[in-house]
Amino acid sequence: MIRSDNVNVLYGKGAVKKNRELLRSLGERYLIVTGKNSARLSGALDDVLNVLEGKEHVIFDEISENPKVSSILRASELLQDADCVIGIGGGSVLDASKVIACLKTNRAVSEEEIYAQKWENEGLPLVLVGTTAGTGSEVTKVAVLSRGNGKKSSIHHDRFYADHAICDPVYTYSMSKMTAISTAIDALTHCNESYFSNKATDVSRTYALEGIRHLLPGLKMIKEGLSDDLKDEVYLGSLYGGLAIDVTGTTFAHNVGYYLTENFGLPHGFACAVFQRDLFEYVSSYDREYTDTFFDQIGMDKESYTELIDSLLPEYDIRISEDTLSSIISRWDNNNSVKNTYGKMDVKDIERILRNRFVK
Ligand code: NAP
Ligand code: FE
Repeated sequence: MIRSDNVNVLYGKGAVKKNRELLRSLGERYLIVTGKNSARLSGALDDVLNVLEGKEHVIFDEISENPKVSSILRASELLQDADCVIGIGGGSVLDASKVIACLKTNRAVSEEEIYAQKWENEGLPLVLVGTTAGTGSEVTKVAVLSRGNGKKSSIHHDRFYADHAICDPVYTYSMSKMTAISTAIDALTHCNESYFSNKATDVSRTYALEGIRHLLPGLKMIKEGLSDDLKDEVYLGSLYGGLAIDVTGTTFAHNVGYYLTENFGLPHGFACAVFQRDLFEYVSSYDREYTDTFFDQIGMDKESYTELIDSLLPEYDIRISEDTLSSIISRWDNNNSVKNTYGKMDVKDIERILRNRFVK
């Protein structure tokens, strides 16, 4: 069964009901953080409210995709009376909830103060209930937020680990096919990028390969639709992907993917998947043996694996002019995700990749 050294992972069908006493023991007043629809659609919100019957609760349902710092600050105004935060949703809601839970004891009233925070004080007890099979945010210390200028930027802190992650795969069943594909492919990119990170360790490689083992059968069939068993496997794979990137972080593909989400609205998973081909090209030219070992272990060759990923992408028509490229490229100068890519990648490689792909 999946376990983490940092988060109490409560995995399995009916996990909310099975952990009724634990959830009720966390306080008298609960702040429940959600997006607009998924918490209800998935059935997770009803399950949580049933378990909390008789306790006070407030629901903040204004977290959107690629969560905005401004909505996190609004949610924090509801914290005065809260003893516990429960986030129910996809990665966007879970990431926002991590920061919200820390804001009662670590004061920040502006975007600058959030990014300058040292998070010295322990936050409120935090429960994360996942509803997508993708980010693995349930088990990571990472929160990816959107700044006022629209740029996505992540914060990593040990205080962001949830106390309890409720991982019931049934909550992912209500995703649309498009969201299911985009989030599953995000999970696969986490495994790939973790394996091809300069920070990879034996432990993180084991998580990454285990994630891919659980994800591949579902990803091969996902366009046709998945049985519940395969959906469960994909969810488990996404959690292993989370454990993997929690050790290593992601690579250039995630960071350059943020740019595609910000400017062309491409959902997160697709935006990162676009660059997996470039990742494999880069790492195989840097270290052929390490790359070949990866493909041996996942049981697919480089071309078939890349084609599988590309076949799951929607049609997109992204063009960038030379002028735009010159004006944005400094963003990846000395960038941690670029430097984290296995090898010695730098901004020149990003310029070459973006030019090959999008300058027409
Ligand atoms: P998401 O942005 O949380 O949700 C995408 C959409 O799916 C939303 O419209 C959401 O609806 C809907 N949805 C979620 N669960 C659903 C369900 N069970 N049934 C029906 N609809 C559902 O998607 P995500 O891919 O999970 O999260 C992406 C975010 O996580 C990005 O900001 C990304 O940068 C970040 N991320 C974080 C980490 C990490 O380690 N922390 C890692 C990778 C990515 P509602 O709006 O109604 O909720
Ligand atoms: Fe991701």
